[in-house]
Amino acid sequence: MIMKVSKRAMSVPPSATLAVTARAKELKAQGVNVVGFGAGEPDFDTPQYIKQAAIDALNAGKTKYTPASGTIELKKAIAEKLQKDNGLNYKPEQIVVNIGAKHSVYNAMQAVLDPGDVVILPTPYWLTYPECVKLAGAKLRVIKTSRQNSYKLTPEQLKKAIGPKTRMLVLNSPNNPGGFTYTPDELAQIAKLLEGTDVVVMSDEIYERLVYDGTKFVSFASLSQDAYDRTLTINGFSKTYSMTGWRLGYTAGPIDVIKAMGRLQDHSTSNPVTFVQDAAITALKDPGNEVEKMRLEFEKRAKFMAERLNSIKGVKCTPATGAFYCFPDISAHFGKTKGGIELKGSMDFAKALLDQANVAVVPGLPFGCDKNIRLSFATSMQNITEGLNRLENWLKG
Ligand code: PMP
Repeated sequence: MIMKVSKRAMSVPPSATLAVTARAKELKAQGVNVVGFGAGEPDFDTPQYIKQAAIDALNAGKTKYTPASGTIELKKAIAEKLQKDNGLNYKPEQIVVNIGAKHSVYNAMQAVLDPGDVVILPTPYWLTYPECVKLAGAKLRVIKTSRQNSYKLTPEQLKKAIGPKTRMLVLNSPNNPGGFTYTPDELAQIAKLLEGTDVVVMSDEIYERLVYDGTKFVSFASLSQDAYDRTLTINGFSKTYSMTGWRLGYTAGPIDVIKAMGRLQDHSTSNPVTFVQDAAITALKDPGNEVEKMRLEFEKRAKFMAERLNSIKGVKCTPATGAFYCFPDISAHFGKTKGGIELKGSMDFAKALLDQANVAVVPGLPFGCDKNIRLSFATSMQNITEGLNRLENWLKG
């Protein structure tokens, strides 16, 4: 027999970010000197004090099941963090520990969305969101934002988009791939507008610690009691502590939804890795201020990359205020032919750039913005310099 793949699984495409990385790897394996701007993870190793905590936990026999929604010790440590850093008052029972923040997004949507519900998603968006909406049986209402507004959703746009079936608004600040961060005032306007509606806000705050040039990060749920009651706050350890491979994220919110997410875990993944949960408690303490060291390095690169991109003809880049991505508009080059390929959109642009100049970037189309490309600055200054020289020369040629 031929085993049939379900309609649900068939509806999910492979990740475009992973596809670029795979193609770049393939070229590298052939001996091609590729400069990669595709990375969605910090280029630093996990700090030693966190690794040591995991080793200690293993040696102490922390190798068995924990409660599926995470240990009480970790939930308490997360609750303290949310209070201290974000001014958020969550009890440990209002927190569920997930297997990475991607899992948080998936479970949160499974827990609150029903078929027919509508989710408002502003562009540019992290490409996992639309797939999780689909997998929950809900519908997307994508809102196009503009470069002039740094790709941020305006209250007017939101007001127009809310309809009787709107069940959720996805907010991601600092933003992947946009590199922008909403100001407290912009978020307050959104919060005000949502008052009196039934819209849940899924606030993905995974890049909260990576903000630059005095940018102030604010948790959406901290804006008012109303905002707190309608928000699922998502965060994780991957970006802040350079722990992408450890797979740990969390969600905080109203107790009934958090319990429902826990039940989904009871019957799917069970608990996040036991000794990783122990290491996470130590990570949150950050005794050597390692997070700030990484942030300072990203800040330098953010400035350098945006300046260099803006010095290239036909490239327009709003400097990143958060996360580790530049998201320039390169559409001035559309319609040109490079190496026999007509650059019709971001997909052709990224493919031709990789094949002809050996620079790997991610096309903007899967993020909802076909005029843009995403360049990660989670790579060395040397690579940034070399890669952008190649980009400039390729565009000139
Ligand atoms: N949210 C955003 C906006 C991200 O960019 C990522 C990682 N690419 C995640 C969530 C998920 O991170 P993880 O699953 O590693 O915690």
